[in-house]
Amino acid sequence: MVSEFELPEDIIDRKVRNMKMISPSNREVDIHLENRNEYIGMCRREVLDSFLRNRAASLGATLINGLVQNIDTGVNRQGPYVLNYSDYSSGSLTGELKSLEVDLIIGADGANSRVAKAMDAGDYNMAIAFQERIRLPQEEMSYYEDLAEMYVGSDVSPDFYAWVFPKYDHVAVGTGTMQKNQSLIKGLQKAIRTRASKRLLLGEVIKVEAHPIPEHPRPRRVVGRMALVGDAAGYVTKSSGEGIYFAAKSGRMCAEQVVESSVQGQRIPSEADLKKYLKKWDKTYGPTYKVLEILQNIFYSNDPAREAFVEMCSDMDVQRLTFDSYLYKRVVAMNPWQQLKLTFRTLASILRGQALAPSGYEPINSVVRSEQEMNHLLEQSLQERASLNKSGQRSESEATAQEKARVLSRT
Ligand SMILES: Cc1cc2nc3c(=O)[nH]c(=O)nc-3n(C[C@H](O)[C@H](O)[C@H](O)COP(=O)(O)OP(=O)(O)OC[C@H]3O[C@@H](n4cnc5c(N)ncnc54)[C@H](O)[C@@H]3O)c2cc1C
Repeated sequence: MVSEFELPEDIIDRKVRNMKMISPSNREVDIHLENRNEYIGMCRREVLDSFLRNRAASLGATLINGLVQNIDTGVNRQGPYVLNYSDYSSGSLTGELKSLEVDLIIGADGANSRVAKAMDAGDYNMAIAFQERIRLPQEEMSYYEDLAEMYVGSDVSPDFYAWVFPKYDHVAVGTGTMQKNQSLIKGLQKAIRTRASKRLLLGEVIKVEAHPIPEHPRPRRVVGRMALVGDAAGYVTKSSGEGIYFAAKSGRMCAEQVVESSVQGQRIPSEADLKKYLKKWDKTYGPTYKVLEILQNIFYSNDPAREAFVEMCSDMDVQRLTFDSYLYKRVVAMNPWQQLKLTFRTLASILRGQALAPSGYEPINSVVRSEQEMNHLLEQSLQERASLNKSGQRSESEATAQEKARVLSRT
């Protein structure tokens, strides 16, 4: 995405080249990207989104700071299309009601899309991504300098995985679950914090976020002269839960189709024109979505399968395949010998996974840090607080230390 969308380097907070996969029994597999040009880019959405928005404006787009309330779509949803929205441009808190008539609409308005509703696009199953942004002291952040952690296990996610991803000056710690398991989220989040506790020791929660993630495309993605892209369309991949690249890419593909079909702005593209974007999209990414769906169904189904998944990730061939599809957004074709080898390895790992998976699963603390080191850190933090109390200062750092202790007791 960085090169394809010509994103400047300073958009990326961290370049992750190390990935730790942690199995239900806390077996750890380290994956390392050797090539300096390859990395998983970690960014903050507020920074990325603002950059993209400003660039669109500098290239001629008119930005409106508004919230679309509803859309008139005309007879049989064939137009004319009128967006009714609250305009916040003047800085008023309530917004000013306004309308805008447009020739066509690209709905890039996320999982709760109003455009999808207006065009009767149909529903999709949803997963929920829940995460806490936890600020760590600088020394502690250095551990996550270029490392992301992915935890699997029914304790942290019955459906997907849980994560610790490094961001600018904090880590995002979260879990993904199907909507049907929504009631478990609190316990699952507690479990991921417990598993990663040795590294989150002095953490301070600075933000809590939860958002739906579509599980598959909507039944209708183009109706009349209205098209959906990104989460509004349902383009998050299974297995990895990745949607940012696919949102950007589908937006671009759809826009390119509009440009092409409008013949330099001389005609308004029709429903049939917009559907050409869908055809190109499905042809390009259909196989990727399918393969990731199959992987999800096999490897996230139970703890033995999750053990097998982590074990397989220690294999260099599997690592290369996984990373190629993750970094370059394509399913890499294997030669028959590789396929055969992989099939045997999968079967063997699944069989071994049965033995490795903990029965009556209990979360086990991550083994990445010694008790001695942890006690030392805690002692340091307590001493810092004690000396602040002594000097009678009610300073910012004291408040922070108290917050850390509170977080600690919660973890
Ligand atoms: C906790 C969490 C972690 C995630 N982690 C990753 C990750 O590591 N990698 C990855 O690739 N994906 C990740 N995803 C998925 C990713 O965030 C989405 O797939 C992606 O943001 C989709 O982009 P989008 O532009 O389609 O929708 P969104 O990012 O949801 O953007 C929709 C935009 O439309 C605006 N909008 C909505 N309704 C209206 C309205 N009525 N009027 C005006 N504007 C409106 C919103 O304000 C927003 O700006 C994560 C999701 C969550 C929830």
